[in-house]
Amino acid sequence: MPSDSERKRMAIAKPVAIAKRNNGTNPLSDLSMADLVHEMISRLGEDPSREGLKDTPRRVAKAYDDLTKGYRQDPEALLKSALFTVNYDEMVIVKDIELFSLCEHHLLPFLGKAHIAYIPNGKVIGLSKLPRLVEIFARRFQVQERLTTQIAETIMQVIQPQGVGVVVEARHLCMMMRGVEKQHSAAVTSSMLGCFRDERETREEFLALIRTKNTNGIV
Ligand SMILES: [Zn+2]
Repeated sequence: MPSDSERKRMAIAKPVAIAKRNNGTNPLSDLSMADLVHEMISRLGEDPSREGLKDTPRRVAKAYDDLTKGYRQDPEALLKSALFTVNYDEMVIVKDIELFSLCEHHLLPFLGKAHIAYIPNGKVIGLSKLPRLVEIFARRFQVQERLTTQIAETIMQVIQPQGVGVVVEARHLCMMMRGVEKQHSAAVTSSMLGCFRDERETREEFLALIRTKNTNGIV
């Protein structure tokens, strides 16, 4: 077993371009994701063969496959599958959409809520698609700011509404668990496009609506 300082050095050493070290071949590419997790557990000083950990590499590989499935899904196709022509130009708002993502800096979760509003311009999307859209972008390695703008920009592009507003509130486990910047572990990000950016009144109506607490269990 390596000493504690040796272990730490190995753990945080910058990855060298592996192929470079091996005449253009990467020996790790032959390994399964479960093999890599098995190796990680062992590097962290645990025994991957003990009973409780025996199936962990396989489970972790499966879990990460699921938590990153957004890479293999098409957000635009999702929205296009449920576009309807309407004569309605009031604000459509879906708030408190649960959100779970992984921060791309530590691969640890951040979780919270997304609120989405738009003002149609002849077209609306089925309401159930908005939580699905959030999920497609959340199930990738993310930073909260990019997640927020990707949601807004995709809606803008596909539905071409008068405007879109997206607010994401999330808590980041990489900060909470590591005890750094605990006071900043909750972050709020927003992306306002079209009339939500240009008209203060529209933006304020949206922000007031998402601040309203649920009282009747319906809205
Ligand atoms: Zn992080």
